[in-house]
Amino acid sequence: MNFKKLIRVIPDFPQEGISFKDITTLLKDGEAYQAAIDQLAEFARKREIDLIAGPEARGFVVGTPLAYALGVGFVPIRKSGKLPAETIQATYDLEYGKDALAVHKDAIQPGQKVLIADDLLATGGTIATTIKLIEQLGGEVVGAAFFIELSYLNGREKLPGVDVFSLVTY
Ligand code: IMP
Repeated sequence: MNFKKLIRVIPDFPQEGISFKDITTLLKDGEAYQAAIDQLAEFARKREIDLIAGPEARGFVVGTPLAYALGVGFVPIRKSGKLPAETIQATYDLEYGKDALAVHKDAIQPGQKVLIADDLLATGGTIATTIKLIEQLGGEVVGAAFFIELSYLNGREKLPGVDVFSLVTY
């Protein structure tokens, strides 16, 4: 399956100089969406995994079908102020902008093995922060899976020791 052909590239969005990779064109193609999740699941099945964690919002689009396919639980990593119960938080830089991420304190038990899922690895800031939150709760990050990796932004360097899988690389 040629996933790259199904990803739309929008120049100068959301600001000048950013080449935005739009996965909505892949998501609306049922066969492609399923094949993409299947490939991530194949990567995930080679590891022992208790949970999938995904940052909002596109991490949910990748992480929840993956969790369903593997028969494991899903932990939402959300922007600050969205989760209703007690949380821990960490701040991070985006390819564009700055924000804080949060997770419920009781979402992960010490020793649980967690695979992170998101649509796209850019600078790695989002995933590095997600890892920080998971590890603060005692979870063990066993890998990270993406539809897209922007290799020219060197996100992998922010994830030392993490087994990274991406379907499509730019
Ligand atoms: P990072 O923290 O720099 O790795 O940025 C990754 C996060 O920003 C992901 O959660 C993406 O959803 C979002 N993001 C950054 N660039 C793009 C893009 O070109 N297309 C879609 N999402 C992007």
